[in-house]
Amino acid sequence: MNILTFDLEEWYIYQLYPKGGKDYYLPLLDRYLNEVLDMLSQQQLNATFFCLGMVAKEYPDVIKKIARQGHEIGCHSDQHQWVTALTPELFYRDTKNAIDALENIIGKKVQGYRAPAFSIGRSTQWALPILKEVGIEYDCSIFPTNRDFGGFPGFQENSPCIISYNNKAIKEFPISTHSVLGKQIAYSGGGYLRLLPYAFIRSFMLKEPYVMSYCHIRDFDAEQKRMLNLRYFKNYYGIQHAFMKLSRLIHDFEFMSVEAANRTIDWAAVPIVQL
Ligand SMILES: [Zn+2]
Repeated sequence: MNILTFDLEEWYIYQLYPKGGKDYYLPLLDRYLNEVLDMLSQQQLNATFFCLGMVAKEYPDVIKKIARQGHEIGCHSDQHQWVTALTPELFYRDTKNAIDALENIIGKKVQGYRAPAFSIGRSTQWALPILKEVGIEYDCSIFPTNRDFGGFPGFQENSPCIISYNNKAIKEFPISTHSVLGKQIAYSGGGYLRLLPYAFIRSFMLKEPYVMSYCHIRDFDAEQKRMLNLRYFKNYYGIQHAFMKLSRLIHDFEFMSVEAANRTIDWAAVPIVQL
């Protein structure tokens, strides 16, 4: 089972782009989004787009365009504040606001959630039952290994499972990892799609029964003005080839949305993780 997802935040999160303002970035973002949508429709592939509530409020046409093409709209918080920076009350309000804004635009229920920067970890696992309270059916926030920000090192599963916390259960689609020299590494999205050679990604995928891929529109934006800083390599390496790699991936493998995967899985047979 291969799942394709996108985290869609760039229309609102301008601090990622300190060089150039809205007027510079919006046309670029629209263009790259259109290219991605065209590529998916040529392949007759529906993906999941985790979107910010603020994008729904400020740029409703962006969300409408994605939904009209049959893709699933999930929630990626309201303003991209990390869960680690919120109290349970603020998290409840942020998530509810985002879901309301997205549902208003698409006219149907939002079922999936992904936290900004995969910020549901050991110290913020209280967020999981709150997702259930606000009507989320499945979470896709667990990154079961180390990363610069967020992540849940030590999480035992890297395939769909049920998380039980405080006697409340929620379905979980974690990011998939692959074991290299005894270490679990993520390989199927974000910077990894830019950094790793295509042959590596392909060979890892062929060995794994479950793949959760995630991309950002900015990963394809080869024209963006670049910031010279310590993260230069990580932020921009491989950006010219990312679009081609995604295109090869969806030609070489069958992908589906989280919504479709949720319908396929026999949830009574998946592992239960007690937190
Ligand atoms: Zn994000």
